[in-house]
Amino acid sequence: MKADLHNHSYFSDGFLSPSEVVRLASDGGCDIFSLTDHDTTNGILEAQHEADKLGLNLINGVEISAFWRNRAIHIVGLGIDLDNDELQTGLEFNQILRKERAKKIALGLWRSGIKDPLEKAQKISGGYMLTRTHFAQMLINEGYCKDMKSVFRRYLTGRKPGGVRVEWRDFGEVVKWIQSAGGKALIAHPFRYRMTHTKIKKMLNDFKESNGDGFEVVNANSSYEEINLGNQWTEDYDLLASIGSDFHGWPNQRVQIGNLAYLPNASRAIWSHL
Ligand code: AMP
Ligand code: MN
Ligand code: MN
Ligand code: MN
Repeated sequence: MKADLHNHSYFSDGFLSPSEVVRLASDGGCDIFSLTDHDTTNGILEAQHEADKLGLNLINGVEISAFWRNRAIHIVGLGIDLDNDELQTGLEFNQILRKERAKKIALGLWRSGIKDPLEKAQKISGGYMLTRTHFAQMLINEGYCKDMKSVFRRYLTGRKPGGVRVEWRDFGEVVKWIQSAGGKALIAHPFRYRMTHTKIKKMLNDFKESNGDGFEVVNANSSYEEINLGNQWTEDYDLLASIGSDFHGWPNQRVQIGNLAYLPNASRAIWSHL
C-alpha cells in the first residue's frame, strides 16, 4: 500500500493547485492520498474532481492548528465530513486567528524596516489563505534570507520581528471538531516540535486521554530511529499510525509526494480504520 496522507495546495501554504497536487500523487503511484490544507477544506472539491478522473482514492483531510500546554501543535483530521457544522465553525475560528496574526506579522516586519510586507505576501498567496510560509517566501525573494529554515528562525518565531503568539484551541477540543465530523484525529510530525522524547511521550499520553486516534509515524524526513520509536509508541499508547510527506511544492523545496518509507506495522495503519 502506497499512502501519502499529508499534503498542501495553494488553498493554504502549498504552491500548487489541488488538481496539480492530485496529479502528482497519481503519477507518484499513490494508492491512497489526502489533501490536508491548514485550517481549511476548501481545496478538496477540486481535488476530488481530479481524483475521480484519475481513479485515485482521495481521503478528505485537514491540518488544524491547536495548543498542547501552550505550544502550537498540528492535528491532522482524516476521513472528515466536509459539511459538518462543528468542524467548519472551528476552522472559521482558526481562519480569523490567522487573519489577525498576518496583520500583526506584517506590522512587526514593517517596523523592522521591510516595505509593504502585507501586500507583498498577499501577492504570493494569490488571495488565498495568508500563512507564515508566504511571509517566509517573500523574505527569501527579497533577499533577506537564503532559505526557509533561516527565515523562520530570524524573522517569524519567538521575539523576532514577525514572531506573533496565537492562542489556538486546546487539542482536546480540536479532536472533538474532527470526530464530530466522523474523522480520525492524528498528531502531525511529532518530532518537529523541538521537544525531548520524554515530552513527546507526555503529549501522546495526553492526546490518548483526550480521545485522540493516533499520530504520524512516517513523514518525508523521518529517520530509521524515529520510525522505530514512533512504531513502539503506537503500541505503548494504543494509537494508530499515519504517514504523509507534508508536501508543499514550492520551487525551493525538495519533498516529493509518495516518496516515503513504509509503516512498520500495517495493522495499526490509519487506512485500516477509516
Ligand atoms: P503557519 O501555519 O502560518 O503558522 O505556518 C507554519 C508553516 O510554515 C508550517 O506548516 C510549515 O509549512 C512552515 N514552516 C514552519 N517552520 C518551518 C521551517 N523551519 N522551515 C520550513 N518551513 C517551516
Ligand atoms: Mn505548512
Ligand atoms: Mn504541520
Ligand atoms: Mn503540513
